[in-house]
Amino acid sequence: MKTPIPFYLEEILDKVRYSDGGAVADYIPELADANPSYLAAAMCTTTGNVYSAGDKEERFTIQSISKPFVYALALQELGLDAVREIVGMEPSGEAFNELSLNAEDHRPVNPMINAGAIAVTQLINGVDSTVDERVERIRSYMSRLAGRELGMDERVCGSELEHSDRNLSLAHMLRNYGIIKDEAPDAVTTYIRQCSLLVDVRDLAVMSATLANGGHQPVTGEKILDTDVCRLTLSVMSSAGMYDGAGRWMAEVGIPAKSGVAGGLLGTLPGQLGIATFSPRLNKEGNSVRGVEAFKLVSRDMGLHLMSTEERYGIAPIRDIHEEEDTYVFRLQGQINFNAAETILYELADQDFDNEAVVLDMSGVTGSNRMGRRMLKEGLRRLRESGHDIGVVDPDNRMTDLKMSDGTEVPVHDMEDYEIAGEEI
Ligand code: GLN
Repeated sequence: MKTPIPFYLEEILDKVRYSDGGAVADYIPELADANPSYLAAAMCTTTGNVYSAGDKEERFTIQSISKPFVYALALQELGLDAVREIVGMEPSGEAFNELSLNAEDHRPVNPMINAGAIAVTQLINGVDSTVDERVERIRSYMSRLAGRELGMDERVCGSELEHSDRNLSLAHMLRNYGIIKDEAPDAVTTYIRQCSLLVDVRDLAVMSATLANGGHQPVTGEKILDTDVCRLTLSVMSSAGMYDGAGRWMAEVGIPAKSGVAGGLLGTLPGQLGIATFSPRLNKEGNSVRGVEAFKLVSRDMGLHLMSTEERYGIAPIRDIHEEEDTYVFRLQGQINFNAAETILYELADQDFDNEAVVLDMSGVTGSNRMGRRMLKEGLRRLRESGHDIGVVDPDNRMTDLKMSDGTEVPVHDMEDYEIAGEEI
């Protein structure tokens, strides 16, 4: 059996594909040539399972999505007090390239707007660092987050450097107030090179899952950031990551997120998931139009809103797996939400049963959401398609509606049928 999650992602992409609003960024001429029809999505769980759909091989420049990660690196290298001296953590409600500093202490209000990001970049690798060394430090760190060596788009970088008056004016302001020490052109070059790193949607999902996972890269297993650093970074992302759309984003999507002008969008669910989309057309706030749509759907369908009062943190969803004569019984427990269902499906897809019956015993399940039930049913349907007899033990009607996506019903078994030797289920 193959896990259905990539198909869900395809489904989400199909639902937002029609949306042709917005426009590709053109203030950086090289970005104006981007193919506006590209569309991709990916997810990475904190257990390191990566799923993707659409134009997932397509690479694009990371742009502002680099900001939370470089902020995290600065926190990791210098600690919060030092970083706080040069940048605040309040939402600005302003555009990403707003020419503004805090009126009292002249610090940029947060690290997600350009003024803050340029200031933070200057902290990396020590005050005496050359531009090249600083950029290399950032590139190699971001590569560890992605789990592969990241390259740079020299054309986009050159094009942005030629049109960087606005960022230069921010750097001059920062230098005027002693927030940065480098010459303004050097500071802007470092920042723009950081923005020109090339990623694909899977890279973003994995990088995001590293934040979700308290700094442990879930695929390579490397510990890259402290848990406190991740918590701080995600907090700032949740209040300022979507610029002047941040409040509405929190209400409608409820996932800490960061967007980039090349069309990338990344969301992080602490302890659970990294999600990313790529679609180059942007709305007036500079966020990907189809990316925002996809995130709204994902959040609603999968019950991922951070402020949702649904119980989320459960116990391991598979209590045990028994082989009973010619039947595999998966005893499930706790809350069956997206994450729990993902773990179960991953296990089901991994098992090598030869034509036996597979039964999901839900008697230990305390609750479920729509996405969890939908995924389990889809998993059962796929098992049946590959020749297995399937069924559930469901004394408390946790499945509620037993109809599968092909219209047929999941057969229900009696508990007694699957009593394990000497043990009550
Ligand atoms: N490099 C871009 C800039 O500084 C990044 C902006 C963004 O992605 N929002 O203008």
